[in-house]
Amino acid sequence: MLDPNPWFWFALIATVGLYKLELLTSLLNLSRLGTQPPEALRDDLDEDAWEKLREYIGAQSRADILQRSLQLGLFLVFWWAGGFPWVNQYAQTLHPHPILQGLAFIGILWLATSLVSLPFDAWDTFGIEARFGFNKTTVRTFITDRLKGTLLAFIFGAPLLAFILWLFDNVENAAFYGWLTLSSFTLLMSFIAPRLLMPLFFKFEPLKDASLQQAVIDLAKRLKFPVAEVSVVDGSRRSSKANAFFTGMGKTRRIALFDTLVDSHPREEILAVLAHEIGHWQRGHVPKQLALSILTNAILFALLHFAIHSETLSAAFGIAPATTAVNFVLFFIVVTPITELIGVFGSWISRKNEFEADAYARDAMQDSAPLASALHRLNRDHMNHPTPHPLHIILHHSHPPVLERLAALRGNS
Ligand SMILES: [Zn+2]
Repeated sequence: MLDPNPWFWFALIATVGLYKLELLTSLLNLSRLGTQPPEALRDDLDEDAWEKLREYIGAQSRADILQRSLQLGLFLVFWWAGGFPWVNQYAQTLHPHPILQGLAFIGILWLATSLVSLPFDAWDTFGIEARFGFNKTTVRTFITDRLKGTLLAFIFGAPLLAFILWLFDNVENAAFYGWLTLSSFTLLMSFIAPRLLMPLFFKFEPLKDASLQQAVIDLAKRLKFPVAEVSVVDGSRRSSKANAFFTGMGKTRRIALFDTLVDSHPREEILAVLAHEIGHWQRGHVPKQLALSILTNAILFALLHFAIHSETLSAAFGIAPATTAVNFVLFFIVVTPITELIGVFGSWISRKNEFEADAYARDAMQDSAPLASALHRLNRDHMNHPTPHPLHIILHHSHPPVLERLAALRGNS
């Protein structure tokens, strides 16, 4: 018999529909890799390099499709075999307090989800990335990274979540105060993360190359970017991929260059990449991104207001009576199409910002050549898909494809 509960059908269509969309996107994206590299990249990629790039992207796509298929299958089996009420009942035996029961329910599901993706993360790092020469992570670093991440999620996430659950059980207009709490937390984290959390994963050292240091400081000064220090980050301990650097916020700004960037790029390219990052700052992209995430939270909390005490939502997953924590988790499963849509909008803004930062860097360097050659080198070294399918760009790309960036650099100069 058909389940008349609308949440049931909504969740089913959302998860299966999204899976099919991702599958289609992957296949379309793969079909855009021809037998020859695009004309504009013939100098960067010879026949062997192109063959390797195609294999790399193929291996990534296959692993991605396998992971999504397995995750969807496990989710449906778990759902229809009564997994949600089973975990809920078990959580209730752990402690008499409803907030702690709620935390246990969420914690168990979160842990289970992480355990399912763990072998895929390991395969990505030690299987695919290693095979193509990118991986520098040791098993030890891989494990400690995950332990640190779990511990941090617990230290910061558990009290935050407990407070939000408590609000929904005890306070009127809880959605508003929940949004306020999460927004304050987001702002706080953006200030403390670069100083407090990143050093837990990366080692910062002063830049040894004195003349590069001087060139970086001169450029920052010329572009009116207040900088307290210039550091090098040991990105090479995990991956050979050269990454741009990040900066802290507030008065103690730190420019941090990945060692892989410093080691594999000529001076002019490093400065052009730096100018690009300063462009993000000068054009106000960081506060704009923060505002966007606070707005996103507002939308989600407004919807949560209507779902958090719904008996039908819980019932669709076999749980009665409804509890706040249960509905909180189920809400985020049901709402995936909306979060995806917001993500698509966020990526679109991000790609626009990249074009702006590129244009800023070109003007700052008074020449498009250094950034263009950095983009050529990064694209070649990272083996990025040079001509991704538009659907793949819309769904997944925070950065525009390299050919579009190069065209934009040439176009307006
Ligand atoms: Zn950027």
